[in-house]
Amino acid sequence: MLENLYLGIDIGGTLIKVAIVNSKGVIFEESVISTDVNAKPADILKSIINIAKKFKDYSKIKSIGVGIAGDVCFGTGVVRFSPNLKKWKNVKVRDILTSLTQKKVYVDNDANTASIGAFWLDAKGKSTDLVCITLGTGVGGGLIFDKKLYRGISGTAGEVGHITIDAYGKKCNCGNRGCIETFVGAKHLSKFVQDYLKDNNSKMIDKLTNKNYKLITPRLLTQAAKKGDKVSKEIWKIVGQKLGIFLSIIINFANPDTVVLCGGISHAKEYFMKYVVKEIQTRAFKSATKACKIIVSEATHNLGVVGAAMLSRQ
Ligand SMILES: [Zn+2]
Repeated sequence: MLENLYLGIDIGGTLIKVAIVNSKGVIFEESVISTDVNAKPADILKSIINIAKKFKDYSKIKSIGVGIAGDVCFGTGVVRFSPNLKKWKNVKVRDILTSLTQKKVYVDNDANTASIGAFWLDAKGKSTDLVCITLGTGVGGGLIFDKKLYRGISGTAGEVGHITIDAYGKKCNCGNRGCIETFVGAKHLSKFVQDYLKDNNSKMIDKLTNKNYKLITPRLLTQAAKKGDKVSKEIWKIVGQKLGIFLSIIINFANPDTVVLCGGISHAKEYFMKYVVKEIQTRAFKSATKACKIIVSEATHNLGVVGAAMLSRQ
């Protein structure tokens, strides 16, 4: 029997991933290239398809899916704007790829594709209601309700990173104050640590940064915690508490069977997860908490490309 295969393309600010995926989200063949931010989008898309056409199963693919950060219109397949790719303004990605391949093409933003990826790779396609939260430079998210991605009326559903958890908190890029992103987004977190160190001394962080606190990143903080640094562990506790407050809102709002955490800072799970769980147990509805599995993705790097490939199955 011929198996259905799908092509996924994940366009990031530094790397582009291309992969052929089967109907269960398993990657058959893949290729990674670095992103030339100065190249014309149409040229980049052409070179991606040239790579894909060299895959041995290319002729068997049923459809093509693309995930990219930014403002993407799923209905028309147009990338209106992408924050890390300045040349990608009003690019008709779907039309360009359709004319290059004569295949059905779907285009969506990277938070949505990551959520579909989490549905297939972390929940193995078995979840019904899933919320995926991407913890990176920003905090993104996607909602899968009744096994389908929920986009909302104008396509911005799942922007959970801008849920307010402190009405008087710091200003966020979105214009609001005190969004969860202003606490756990990588840039904000690094800034928070710089301030925290004014009153709390950490020899380990001093050593790892040579006292240049601008070098502090979530990764460095995890490294310091792994070496037993108390200050770093305390900071991860604060992060865990904030995330727990945030996830209590998500759990009460969506009543999901699964919440998947992915992205860079999810690698520090052993330092923050127990505080997340504690806050949820204190704050969220008991029955909703009991019904919800919280998992840290085991496949963070492949969620985007697999989710893109699976867009046609939504
Ligand atoms: Zn915000």
